[in-house]
Amino acid sequence: MKQGPNFKRIEDNMRSGPLAAHQFLGTDTRTLADVILHDQLLLEPLGLTNQDISDRMRYFTDKLADNPGPKNADHKFRVEREEHKGRILCPFADNVQASKSITRVTNMESGKTVVWSDLNIHLIASHGFYEGYGAPFRVDPAEYAEVLEIKNPK
Ligand SMILES: [Zn+2]
Repeated sequence: MKQGPNFKRIEDNMRSGPLAAHQFLGTDTRTLADVILHDQLLLEPLGLTNQDISDRMRYFTDKLADNPGPKNADHKFRVEREEHKGRILCPFADNVQASKSITRVTNMESGKTVVWSDLNIHLIASHGFYEGYGAPFRVDPAEYAEVLEIKNPK
């Protein structure tokens, strides 16, 4: 997919600018626009939106707002939070910052665990960006939907 000059600049920042250390695009060689488009195509058959995914992630993260846990949620999930000092700037140049703290949720029925940073929630909610293949904080929409039991609200 062709991407506009803004996306090109953001992609360059992710790959070689001051934010490159966060490896938002991992080992992915696709353009930023393609990475975003491909994940939207993964969501479609699931009947889910970026909002459904990010709301569910925020739901768990908010459970540990005053206490890092671990805590049980809904008799099925184990939720833990790893506090990290410092903040990360959103690579989409909108002046949003998020803490580096991490939320880890285990589905106790399946034994599967998924992890995300506070910035992931913003990247998904505001930019539809789940990060590239090989990124340390890649959120695979289908995998997260399964582990967090995110249902089509309709
Ligand atoms: Zn942003």
